Amino acid sequence: MRWKNALINTIRETPKEAETVSHKYMLRAAMIKKLGAGIYDLLPLGLRSVSKVMNIIRQEMNSSGAQEVMLPVLSPAELWQETGRWAVYGREMMRITDRHDNQFALGPTHEEVITDLVRREINSYKQLPVNLYQIQVKFRDEIRPRFGVMRAREFIMKDAYSFDRDEKAAMESYKIMFDTYNRICKRIGFKYRPVEADSGAIGGNMSAEFMVLAETGEDTIIYCENEKCGYAANMEKAVFAKPEPQTAAEEPLTKVHTPNIKTVGELAAFLGKKPEETAKTILYIVDEKKMAGAVMRGDREINEVKLKNVLGANEIRLATPEEILEKTGAPVGFAGPINLREKGIRLAIDDTVAGLKNTVTGGNEQDYHYTGVNRGRDYQENLAADFAKAQKGDRCAKCGGILNEQKGIEVGHVFYLGTKYSKSMKATYLDETGKSQLMVMGCYGIGVTRVVAAAIEQNNDENGIIWPMAIAPYEVAVVPVNVKYAEGMEYAEKLYTDLKAAGVDVIIDDRDISPGVKFKDADLIGFPLRVVVGEKNFKDGKVEVKLRREKNFELADKDAVFGMVAETVRREKTVDTGALR
Ligand SMILES: [Zn+2]
Repeated sequence: MRWKNALINTIRETPKEAETVSHKYMLRAAMIKKLGAGIYDLLPLGLRSVSKVMNIIRQEMNSSGAQEVMLPVLSPAELWQETGRWAVYGREMMRITDRHDNQFALGPTHEEVITDLVRREINSYKQLPVNLYQIQVKFRDEIRPRFGVMRAREFIMKDAYSFDRDEKAAMESYKIMFDTYNRICKRIGFKYRPVEADSGAIGGNMSAEFMVLAETGEDTIIYCENEKCGYAANMEKAVFAKPEPQTAAEEPLTKVHTPNIKTVGELAAFLGKKPEETAKTILYIVDEKKMAGAVMRGDREINEVKLKNVLGANEIRLATPEEILEKTGAPVGFAGPINLREKGIRLAIDDTVAGLKNTVTGGNEQDYHYTGVNRGRDYQENLAADFAKAQKGDRCAKCGGILNEQKGIEVGHVFYLGTKYSKSMKATYLDETGKSQLMVMGCYGIGVTRVVAAAIEQNNDENGIIWPMAIAPYEVAVVPVNVKYAEGMEYAEKLYTDLKAAGVDVIIDDRDISPGVKFKDADLIGFPLRVVVGEKNFKDGKVEVKLRREKNFELADKDAVFGMVAETVRREKTVDTGALR
């Protein structure tokens, strides 16, 4: 590409709406242009990166045996009503009504559409397994679209769906996708981590997220420092080794006057105890119906995703002070497990509380707590389970090693779905004996536009983007410092033509502008390799070759540059895509 003819209007100032590095640089580097809240034009540079991501995905999906389809964006309401998600999805789903008053969704995901296709196309075990995927726009009406294409209302996604005859075969399909996602992440050039994930609203009981590691990431990953162990999970799912049950002799239950004491810290200090010797009781409203008490060791936080799951709830929220007072008779801060069930409140205790002896709890009465509280003798829970937030420094449940935390950006997700959709939509096949069986499904997504933004979040500096070679809009920028210097220009033109002929993605900055602007633009857009042809060096037979990620350039012999550049591009795109483990 010749820069003179290219639509690349870089922006010097940081646009006001940009909150994140990727959003800022994508706008400034002329990759995207905002059209409305959460909707963006993909400009030529942006589309080039997005297309490269799509190509890598497509190649890896095809080689995994999956087949590409293209499903409509518009999907009839009736399909969503079959699974109940027309109601469940709420306002996040964009809906339209046609001239005949038929309702449609602008697809936020495609389980219903694909299951409908497969139930009509496949009826025999001989046609299974099948894995169908598409790369297409999706719509989600985010309450607050932000971070550019990271959380847009319209975005490009790769979604795949596998259909198998039984659970065992479905697990095989899942494993193939897990490996495929690893290859895709490696080819893109990500530093990333696959982590165990909660299966959330979509259902199923096995899932993993592919997290791009970046300090600016919104997600927290818990991982084991023991590399041989390899345990990693997102915060919602992460578990840790629970302490051994205590064995101290039981002390008598004592009611203590604790005026004006509300926090765990105040309480522990008042009683001369450590926070981990206390237990706090948090009250929740479950599915807008019943109240539940969740008891957690005083020094730890509740993981509400886990709690929701152990309560078997669709939704939980903290009870309001009014609800707490009405139901327990005590204001906020004094709830405790003793006599709570008698008030019609379901009692869940975390595993960290189960083994505590002689703990301190609220008294369900204003300004009173109990000490010497013992499970079994003083209260009995409805359920004991793990709903604690794992944290840095905890012990790994798998190997006993130390857990640590890091930030990440989710770019991919693989789910084992089971028969959730095949059951409600009656997607069945006939087995060898002629018996009708439900297909067992998995689904697998990658946020394509999000991948591009995540790559920028992971690879940037104060001057701009530092693209991994595999998805850079152009791999090489040839920059003649002064286009009026004929010999240098002639060389630059020839290098440009030769590189192009060799299959290198190259742009020549043939603009007649100051070199300072050229260098700033090249750094901002972040071409991995830059070749600068300047008059002084060129007269000595030398040309500057610089990797964007490195500080210094190399002064190369002008005749060696073509080979050097072509080889660097080739090498940087070659990665070992062997499975991670
Ligand atoms: Zn471990």
